[in-house]
Amino acid sequence: MDERLEREIQRVGRALAAAFPSHRGNALKALDNRAMDLAAEDAELRAALFRFVDVVPACRSLDDLAGHLTGYLEQVHTRPPSLRAAMRMGDTKAGRAALGAAGAAGVRHMAHRFIVGADPAAALPALRGLWRDGIAASVDLLGEATVTAGEADRYAARCAEALDALAAVYDALDPRPMLERDTLGPLPRANLSVKVSALTPLLRPEAPERGQRDAAPRLRELLRHAARVGAHLHIDMESLDSREAVLELVLALLAEPEFADGPSAGVVLQAYLRDSPQTLDTILAWARATPRAQPLVVRLVKGAYWDHEVVAARQHGWSVPVFERKADCDRNFEALTTRLLEARPLVRVAIASHNLRSVAHAIARNRLAGGDDADLELQILRGLGDDLGHALASEGLRVRAYCPVGDLVAGMAYLVRRLLENTANESFLSDHAHGVPIEQLLAPPA
Ligand SMILES: Cc1cc2nc3c(=O)[nH]c(=O)nc-3n(C[C@H](O)[C@H](O)[C@H](O)COP(=O)(O)OP(=O)(O)OC[C@H]3O[C@@H](n4cnc5c(N)ncnc54)[C@H](O)[C@@H]3O)c2cc1C
Repeated sequence: MDERLEREIQRVGRALAAAFPSHRGNALKALDNRAMDLAAEDAELRAALFRFVDVVPACRSLDDLAGHLTGYLEQVHTRPPSLRAAMRMGDTKAGRAALGAAGAAGVRHMAHRFIVGADPAAALPALRGLWRDGIAASVDLLGEATVTAGEADRYAARCAEALDALAAVYDALDPRPMLERDTLGPLPRANLSVKVSALTPLLRPEAPERGQRDAAPRLRELLRHAARVGAHLHIDMESLDSREAVLELVLALLAEPEFADGPSAGVVLQAYLRDSPQTLDTILAWARATPRAQPLVVRLVKGAYWDHEVVAARQHGWSVPVFERKADCDRNFEALTTRLLEARPLVRVAIASHNLRSVAHAIARNRLAGGDDADLELQILRGLGDDLGHALASEGLRVRAYCPVGDLVAGMAYLVRRLLENTANESFLSDHAHGVPIEQLLAPPA
């Protein structure tokens, strides 16, 4: 099986790589990629750009913006010529206005690469466009940290409005059989991702029950709303200190009799956590004991908070809860993929990764086990995985793009997280961007 599997992974991976769209002639995309490359190569420049991205929403004038930009860039010791030119512009008032405008426009442009619109209404054309291209979406409403009950109520209200808006827009679209049905039955077109930490200000590791009790009524109401409009509700996973509380809460609510017939809902499993196989045991035991009309969707990711988990554990003198070798994380991702595929129809499986090897492995494993392509969903982040998303859609696979919606201020934390991910040393996207050969990109994790 292993040799056959490896051969199939290579075949699928190469076919996908060949189906990546070409960006020749797309100047804006090339510019974005160049900015990412520069940032990836130089830690000081990366830090300066992150600080600038953080401060943009707080600046009141172009002069102010330019002042910040040149101030941060002064801390970069080796400057490419384009940066030296930008800094000279900071010497005159007209130059500062132009530089400030260019900096703000650059950040806004970069943010729009990741964010589909300021609110669900503004995002609708992009969502329609994706659907036409054979790509479903899950919308994520960006927001600032929830520190009061009022903010949690407002987030819940925005989610409810988004469910209505999404249901209305998707109702009017042409059929896309691959995106709306698997062998178990219909899949909702409208799909919203939510964060429990935004539904309560009280989610704290030292008193998880308080956060659960406070978030429960808002999440229950959202589940009811999703069931009413026929949408899917996916609950994202955040850092480890809230994992137990979030998983327990979601599974407890979904087990309530009123939700036995719907809505379709899902949770996230993070493969970078060393104990993720035990978390999967918990999820599968729950699914076995809790028959629902629409099986739980499990989205497998590696995990977005790797640096945070390492730093937090070291600060407290705890053992590090995440794998510290990238290959160990990747191998665990493949093992969990296999277990999830084998657990169907108890759960529906969504593999969320931009790593060609991880994705090709899931597709190959499914096919070799006699599975139908329709019973495997592949998920990407808008702005980071667009090329892979289009390649997957062109190969007739089901793909869903995770689409953040929000204004520039709310989007900053998200943008910084994505920039970090895209410029991190140990990332498939950075290897791919730097021309690492396909054999290496598709090699088994070792
Ligand atoms: C649709 C979608 C939804 C998502 N939802 C969530 C979510 O709810 N919660 C969440 O946490 N993340 C979520 N993510 C983010 C996801 O975790 C990251 O995109 C992902 O970790 C990047 O992995 P990759 O397979 O694309 O890339 P790769 O380049 O293969 O992997 C990078 C990842 O490997 C891990 N890593 C890096 N260095 C090391 C190391 N030295 N040792 C061990 N591991 C290492 C980190 O997790 C890093 O992010 C989502 C992603 C997608 C596409």
